[in-house]
Amino acid sequence: MENIIELNKDGSLSVPDKPVIPYIPGDGTGPDIWNATRLVLDAAVKKAYKDKKKIIFKEVLAGEDAFNKTGEWLPKETLDQIQKYRVAIKGPLTTPVGHGMRSLNVAIRQDLDLYACIRPAKYISGVPSPCREPENIDMVIFRENTEDIYLGIEWEAGTKQAKDAISFVNQRTTKSLDEDTTGIGIKPISEKKTKRLFKKAIQYAIDHNRKSVTIMHKGNIMKFTEGAFLKWGYEVGENDFKDDVITEQKLWDHFKGKVPKGKIVLKDRIADNMFQQVLLRPNEYDIIAAPNLNGDYISDLLAAMVGGLGLAPGANIGDNCAVFEATHGTAPKYAGLDKVNPGSVILSGAMMLDHLGWHEASNVIHTALQKTILNKKVTYDLARLIPGAIELKCSEFALELCSSM
Ligand code: NAP
Repeated sequence: MENIIELNKDGSLSVPDKPVIPYIPGDGTGPDIWNATRLVLDAAVKKAYKDKKKIIFKEVLAGEDAFNKTGEWLPKETLDQIQKYRVAIKGPLTTPVGHGMRSLNVAIRQDLDLYACIRPAKYISGVPSPCREPENIDMVIFRENTEDIYLGIEWEAGTKQAKDAISFVNQRTTKSLDEDTTGIGIKPISEKKTKRLFKKAIQYAIDHNRKSVTIMHKGNIMKFTEGAFLKWGYEVGENDFKDDVITEQKLWDHFKGKVPKGKIVLKDRIADNMFQQVLLRPNEYDIIAAPNLNGDYISDLLAAMVGGLGLAPGANIGDNCAVFEATHGTAPKYAGLDKVNPGSVILSGAMMLDHLGWHEASNVIHTALQKTILNKKVTYDLARLIPGAIELKCSEFALELCSSM
């Protein structure tokens, strides 16, 4: 059908010149950021292809706006539309802490089986960084998106379900959990879902000429969940990619640490150590594959190292569709102030353009962003760290990007 992105048998996309792409503006600062992003995406596509290509953006509902209009936070119609059009982009959506509904962001990822959350962290010249040699920071996180404690299997302390689970645990282990005051959460990690994440991460490393894939895990403590994630990760590397991958162990046992030409090193680090490793020796890390929660934590650290959450893009990718979104949330205190940095969603949009194969338009965005930041024309988050910066509003920053294309 015209205007619809089609999936080919080999998993690649057939993209029409004028694809329909659903978008969710989001809650809080989302609408400010989305308006800025849309302006930049349209301008970049026009700059790259004149009128030959154009995205036909189609709004779909989620979050507060959806609730006010339909009484539902995440209408089924929205998920159906994303599935139909295969590629979508969204702003952040609010989730209450400690009570109320489950996260809509997590629901979208799980319901559409968008199992790989891909978050690049690459330094842009001129961005203030707390690191000594930020130019060495060029990592991509592959965060498992559909399992782990994010699956949301939890029971509140004192409920029948929590008591049943506790009685099960107390009968089968030497532990003695307090039945009345203990909340319970379940952490499932499966072989199938772990292995498909590793296939994507290692294939990405091969396709993008990356040097290593590091498994970030806490398998020393959680042996049958994160420990299994580690084991299955190595199995994918050693069985499915044996011509492309070498484990760190083999590298030292047989090659004195010198990487044979064309090989990607598969290694692992315990999660707590991983934080100091990426901070102190960023040039030794490249692709990072992590279970859901570890991936969430390390994402914000890497974002901080390359300019903060205002410049941290992401993609949620499954076998059938993809949704692009920033790492950050709704930043509610800045809602409606036309203040925050739209850079994360703009860069997520650039990732989306690359996903469509529209690399020229993506490059236009990266070049414009680099130029604007070097000119010290930035939003509040970067302005407070760059001496002599000119602080722009969210919408002004977008206009500045467009005029520098
Ligand atoms: P947050 O919205 O990410 O904001 C935390 C802080 O990060 C902000 O106060 C601000 O720092 C900085 N920040 C965030 N977005 C920025 C931007 N565009 N430009 C510059 N700085 C930015 O995290 P939160 O306050 O913990 O969460 C708020 C809500 O968002 C919650 O309901 C949460 O569940 C939700 N959330 C949604 C998503 C998603 O939609 N995928 C992701 C995470 C959280 P300063 O205060 O230092 O300026």
